[in-house]
Amino acid sequence: MGGLDWQGILGPGRFEPPMPSDSVHPDAASLLAWYDRHRRALPWRARAGEPADPYAVWLSEVMLQQTTVAAVGPRFARFLARFPTVEALAAAPWEQVAQEWAGLGYYARARNLHAAAKDVAERGGFPSDEAGLATLPGVGPYTAAAVAAIAFGRPAVPVDGNVERVMARLFAVEAPLPGAKRRLAALAREVGAQAPARARPGDFAQALFDLGATVCTPRRPVCALCPWRGACAGLASGLAESLPRKAAKAERPQRFGVAFWLEDEAGRVLLRRRPARGLLGGMLELPGTPWRGKMWGEVEAQGHAPARAAWLPAGGVRHVFTHFALDLRVWAGWVPVLPACGEVVPRGEVLSAGLPGVMAKAARVALRVCGEAGSASGRASFGRGCARRE
Ligand code: SF4
Repeated sequence: MGGLDWQGILGPGRFEPPMPSDSVHPDAASLLAWYDRHRRALPWRARAGEPADPYAVWLSEVMLQQTTVAAVGPRFARFLARFPTVEALAAAPWEQVAQEWAGLGYYARARNLHAAAKDVAERGGFPSDEAGLATLPGVGPYTAAAVAAIAFGRPAVPVDGNVERVMARLFAVEAPLPGAKRRLAALAREVGAQAPARARPGDFAQALFDLGATVCTPRRPVCALCPWRGACAGLASGLAESLPRKAAKAERPQRFGVAFWLEDEAGRVLLRRRPARGLLGGMLELPGTPWRGKMWGEVEAQGHAPARAAWLPAGGVRHVFTHFALDLRVWAGWVPVLPACGEVVPRGEVLSAGLPGVMAKAARVALRVCGEAGSASGRASFGRGCARRE
């Protein structure tokens, strides 16, 4: 350790110095010893020595795809409270699952989660190996490996972006992602093939996750605390922080749409449910135009409005999806009676109805401009023409 004053560097109680590693190869035993001392306590993680619940492991892995640990934490607990077992999830109507998933994004995940729960309930339990898990809807190679290793102790190495980063640095792989994915996965499997990792596959997988999340971080990796620092080619060559390299991304295309906030005399708002398949499939939304590559003119946009009304511009939102960015204009209108072509929700309950993120943003724009729930002045201004305050 070279006489370093770790408490002085890190502050009291934050980290203990890592286990020494003189190996020129990243040895699994050093990583596991580090994990035993520094493992994160996460809501879905079993305590040391306790068996993991396959349902909790699978649910957390699906929730964590494209979403941060911090964002998933409270949502995981809430989801589990509402659907405590895979059987309870399987038996729930889709509308309840969609409502509970609202705001987490990537809604195809929720549809697949629900379908997979039904599949598992029918089979009488989760398949216990990678191949069997991969037959469940929405379960790809990463999730299958994670559940097999963590919940069933199978010798599998799940490789996500964190693990790719650690491998790229450990072995100083300069080839850019995504082309380097297969090589990085093969390297991870090679490290995971060591006997100590095969003896504790779930801990080894979670140790890799924790190393990537807390030490080998995307920016400023804390190499001084890393159990693999003695074997890290990226650190030795001074390249660590610049890895992994990434191929330049094509610019996201821009799309445009218009959403209509339509309210009746009783302060109720018209929502509709999107088709089951496709983007935001099965989720609630404000009625609106299709989303396309050029802006909508006023007259043509109003051809997609759910009713004839004195439509007034309320503002707009920008939302970035994986493959495009959306500029969504919001128009507000008032009618004595809502048309029977959707779901009717009291204005004060729209934000808790289970709207996906982009539609919740659009609803907030309309509510801000037209008055909050129960606001007499808002209702009156809406009736008079919803004066714009922005
Ligand atoms: Fe990552 Fe640094 Fe550890 Fe290498 S030594 S694996 S770059 S934290």
